[in-house]
Amino acid sequence: MPHLRVLITVKTYPVVSERYDELVCTAGVSPGLGFVRLYPVRFRYLPYGQQYRKYQWIEVDAVRNPKDSREETYLPDSESISLVGRPIDTANGWAERRRIVLPWLSQSIERLTEQGRSLGIVKPAEVLDLKCTPVARDWSSKDRERLHQYMLFGPDRKPLQKLPYKFQYVFRCDDYNCKGTHTLMVEDWELGVLYFNMVEESQGNEPAAIAKVREKFLDVLCGPTRETYFFVGNTLAYPNSWLVLGVFWPPTTQQRPLCLTHNSH
Ligand SMILES: [Zn+2]
Repeated sequence: MPHLRVLITVKTYPVVSERYDELVCTAGVSPGLGFVRLYPVRFRYLPYGQQYRKYQWIEVDAVRNPKDSREETYLPDSESISLVGRPIDTANGWAERRRIVLPWLSQSIERLTEQGRSLGIVKPAEVLDLKCTPVARDWSSKDRERLHQYMLFGPDRKPLQKLPYKFQYVFRCDDYNCKGTHTLMVEDWELGVLYFNMVEESQGNEPAAIAKVREKFLDVLCGPTRETYFFVGNTLAYPNSWLVLGVFWPPTTQQRPLCLTHNSH
């Protein structure tokens, strides 16, 4: 079985699936290959020593997933996952992360679609908003049944909470061929974790938790001191429908001048 070396860049909030109770979409960059998706991975059930973090190198045996037509999808042998060193830090303005990730930058969502890609990274020209919309608060009865069924087998597992809101970035690509604004759902695991932590901290005050999520994911990650990129991926069922899987947000390399010097004549 081929052996892959992957720098993990993306982990999505777990979803309930028909075949494997809950799943996390993990993706990253593999030298020479570019973006790869490891799927399925039952991340929360991996032994602790195999629970990789973002920006950590892993080695894994994996084959192209025969049930997935997307070229980037690999079916990992979960038992073979091994972590290589500590996650890459953010020293020197994310220099090492930039060196590995940014060579795979695509011009736009439109370009990725044209090229038949299912994963990539794009740099928005402008992030206009982070929309927040209420969605179903509970799992469907089918999903609950699936979760319940598996819970019987794993007594020490934590129940998976459902996010009662969906968050969507509204942005334009930095490409003259961009067809207009995109409104893409954010699937980043960290957003879900932040939301639930904030709900807990504010004793159930959901508007306060949403405000905190917007503050972090819009004002900080997409703020003027950050160079913002989105890791994006599409879904197997709807290749034209893209999701934001995570944010790459190194500090801006060029500081804007504080004041302009005028030529005196
Ligand atoms: Zn676009």
